[in-house]
Amino acid sequence: MKLLSHAEFIAAAGRAADLLPEGPAEIAFAGRSNVGKSSAINALLGRRRLARISKTPGRTQTINFYALGEQARLVDLPGYGYARVARSLRSQWETLVAAYLRSRSTLAGVVVIMDARHPLTPLDLQLIEWLGDTRLLVLLSKADKLSRTEQAATLARVSAALGAPVRLFSSVTRQGVDESRVLLEQWLETGRAEIKGPR
Ligand code: GDP
Repeated sequence: MKLLSHAEFIAAAGRAADLLPEGPAEIAFAGRSNVGKSSAINALLGRRRLARISKTPGRTQTINFYALGEQARLVDLPGYGYARVARSLRSQWETLVAAYLRSRSTLAGVVVIMDARHPLTPLDLQLIEWLGDTRLLVLLSKADKLSRTEQAATLARVSAALGAPVRLFSSVTRQGVDESRVLLEQWLETGRAEIKGPR
């Protein structure tokens, strides 16, 4: 089933207490501000404008929940690491995102988006460390800005560093979109089976 084709906004949570109660399996998206996360979500959903493409990086500090039909959810985590974000906002981000990641038994996996030109920043690595053994897909966004040779070298370097699936991705050329969709649909299928299955 094509779970990733229709998504509707359900709720935004600015504090841990406002997180939506657990329901169907969820896929969360995370990445530095301005990395191309909203564009990637929209490309994966085949939509022009589901997640708002931010004009002011770093300002959205809410976790946004979207329904993918009744079977699954997409969760857009606030972007991190924008230089001008005050320290207080940064710790607010950490508290909120950590509360979500630590508590969510319905989390089928997390898509971490890194800029293909500057992957593996300290904050990217910190997030991945927090994820522990949560299922992970890394998308190297804006891959269209690299030459073929640079793409291959970056893919090899990031794959070797993380030991997780890594894909070159571009919401402009749609490189990596279809392959990533297939993988995420599989996550949701297995995530749903696990939630429904005996505990
Ligand atoms: P977010 O803050 O991570 O959600 O990033 P956005 O999706 O809002 O994108 C930030 C900027 O990067 C915008 O100017 C986009 O047009 C641009 N952008 C996003 N994805 C791509 C891509 O795949 N290729 C190129 N060249 N630019 C992109």
